[in-house]
Amino acid sequence: MPAATRQQIALVTGGSGGIGRAVCTELGRSGTYVVVNYRGNREGAEKTLEMVLAAGGGGEIRRFDVRDREEVERAVHEIGDRLETIDILVNNAGIVADGLFLMMSPERWQQVIDTTLHGFYNVTRPVLEKMVRNRGGSIVSISSAAALMANRGQANYAAAKAGLNAASRTLATEVARLGIRVNVVAPGLIDTGMIDKAPKDYIKTLIPMARIGRPEEVAGVVAFLCSEAASYVTGQVISVNGGML
Ligand code: NDP
Repeated sequence: MPAATRQQIALVTGGSGGIGRAVCTELGRSGTYVVVNYRGNREGAEKTLEMVLAAGGGGEIRRFDVRDREEVERAVHEIGDRLETIDILVNNAGIVADGLFLMMSPERWQQVIDTTLHGFYNVTRPVLEKMVRNRGGSIVSISSAAALMANRGQANYAAAKAGLNAASRTLATEVARLGIRVNVVAPGLIDTGMIDKAPKDYIKTLIPMARIGRPEEVAGVVAFLCSEAASYVTGQVISVNGGML
């Protein structure tokens, strides 16, 4: 069935957390069937699913660890085959493990790169197989302002997110003719559990809008990029950061 006439199917990684939940809910608002991925926080994923259903969408929760390539491949093929395709992928799962570079343990370096950069590869490649077969799709990955401007203590995070930007822009050129769009959203400081330890008062002084963003303000841009309204937008990194240049 042509994509425009049937319910859209979306996979959102890290759907149990702050930005992921807002993205799933926003997609639900347009009637999308959302597969809400989580790793450890099942309760969070269930709450997200409730919000998706209340918003008018459909969905299910699905546990996998984006770092585990085999587990991801099994999950993506099972989802894609059962639901017949995946139209939308939002690579949102991410972690921070901050520390000054000189003191950064190999584990801290590795876990951030594994989650963000290898996770992008692990999930996107099998999803892309489904999208190529269907000759259409939209992939949006959540990067960070940290990839675009230097931030003490985040060399691992910046490297992983900058890699995500570069990989996405390259992939966009490879699949554009197949009707598949690939974009990145780079949030600034957003009010979720991830920034509990961040020096918020200091960071606010660096933001022209002088406030922290809300997850919904990221989700709106992600949903736009996933929609037909963005049908000529690909290969872009779009900042959602209150005006930081
Ligand atoms: P949260 O900590 O609220 O959410 C993180 C999500 O990632 C959780 O759902 C978590 O799942 C999931 N996750 C982590 N590791 C894995 C894994 N190995 N496999 C599957 N899922 C995993 O943070 P945010 O909502 O703020 O972060 C979402 C994205 O936004 C991240 O990529 C982050 O880097 C990015 N971002 C956030 C900013 C902010 O200021 N908040 C700024 C810029 C970018 P679970 O809990 O179930 O394990």
